[in-house]
Amino acid sequence: MGRPATAKINLDALRHNYRIIQQLSARGTGNGQVMAVVKADAYGHGATACATALADIASGFAVAFIEEALELRAAGIKQPILLLEGFFEPSELEMIDQYRLDTVIHHQYQIDALVAHRPKHPVRLWLKMDSGMGRVGFAPDEYRKVWEQLNDLPFVKDIVLMSHFACADEPDSDHAQQQLTTFNTYTHGLPGERSFCNSAGLVALKEVQSEWNRPGLLLYGVSPFAQIHDIQQTIKPVMELSSAIISIKTIPAGSSVGYGSQWIARRTTRIGVVAIGYADGYPRHAANGTPVYINGCRVPLVGRVSMDMLTVDLTDLSDVQIGDRAILWGDDLPINEVAKGAGTIPYQLLCNLNRVPVLYHGILIPEQLDFDQMEI
Ligand SMILES: *Cc1c(COP(=O)(O)O)cnc(C)c1O
Repeated sequence: MGRPATAKINLDALRHNYRIIQQLSARGTGNGQVMAVVKADAYGHGATACATALADIASGFAVAFIEEALELRAAGIKQPILLLEGFFEPSELEMIDQYRLDTVIHHQYQIDALVAHRPKHPVRLWLKMDSGMGRVGFAPDEYRKVWEQLNDLPFVKDIVLMSHFACADEPDSDHAQQQLTTFNTYTHGLPGERSFCNSAGLVALKEVQSEWNRPGLLLYGVSPFAQIHDIQQTIKPVMELSSAIISIKTIPAGSSVGYGSQWIARRTTRIGVVAIGYADGYPRHAANGTPVYINGCRVPLVGRVSMDMLTVDLTDLSDVQIGDRAILWGDDLPINEVAKGAGTIPYQLLCNLNRVPVLYHGILIPEQLDFDQMEI
């Protein structure tokens, strides 16, 4: 069926990861509620499909902004949906009210708009403290005053106390600890549920006890840590990005491969061409040596990644043929390794996915359409 580049999305793996996260969240006094973060089209996995696949088990969903939330409501998602950036303009309040969305409040202009609008339905607000991320949120010493201001509003149902870690993925940093201390100090005595952890915080900071966690990356089976971490053994990658080899040829030592002739063969080399490139979201900056998984082995990327193709060194792999699958990331090749080779993070690779047909398997496919029989 045409070009062989494909992103396979395993929705059973997504559910597996959600359950692992629930177990992690249930430790301590937290009651294990998990807002599944499906912003940026579920990190490239398809927000509607992922939310639908989790609809019977997820406590709620978090997105960046209102258009992403409305897409989920249109797909029939009934759970709470949280706008992580809140709203940008007062005009959005009408829809927040109508579609019963939860919203982050991080700035006074949002409170002013809320007071002027007076929502018809009771609304749950997530009041954000800037405890050390230095991005959005109220300063710790003004937080309590703002909380009191919101608590006096008749249409405010609940106020979740919320903050966000800057360095939860860095095991050697005590920044997260400082943020936690700041948050606990300035919210001391305030009633209400708390929400702090993203994926890295949930795994690394066992001392954080909060009612709501907000994992994104971990849901998709990807470790948020730069170093190899045990969590990778427990979660399952949801996406497998692959394509096929469309050309194999042998070149003599001294000849070059790709744009800029930047890679030069040091020996007689068998070059395989894979039909995927940076227009599909494979990173153009992936360095020579970045692994590609073919027939059970890792082979090195060589030469610059082009728009629609990339090249690998197949010399040490004897039995490869045209048409064989090349896995760019997935179960057998953690996306973290590719991100490292490209000087970026897995988040960016997943969100940049483009132009590649997405194939779902797992719970959304009816029984009679068993995916394994449809294998392309
Ligand atoms: C994106 C986001 C998350 C999820 O982060 P991950 O590192 O993917 O788990 C959590 N909280 C907020 C406020 C976010 O913007």
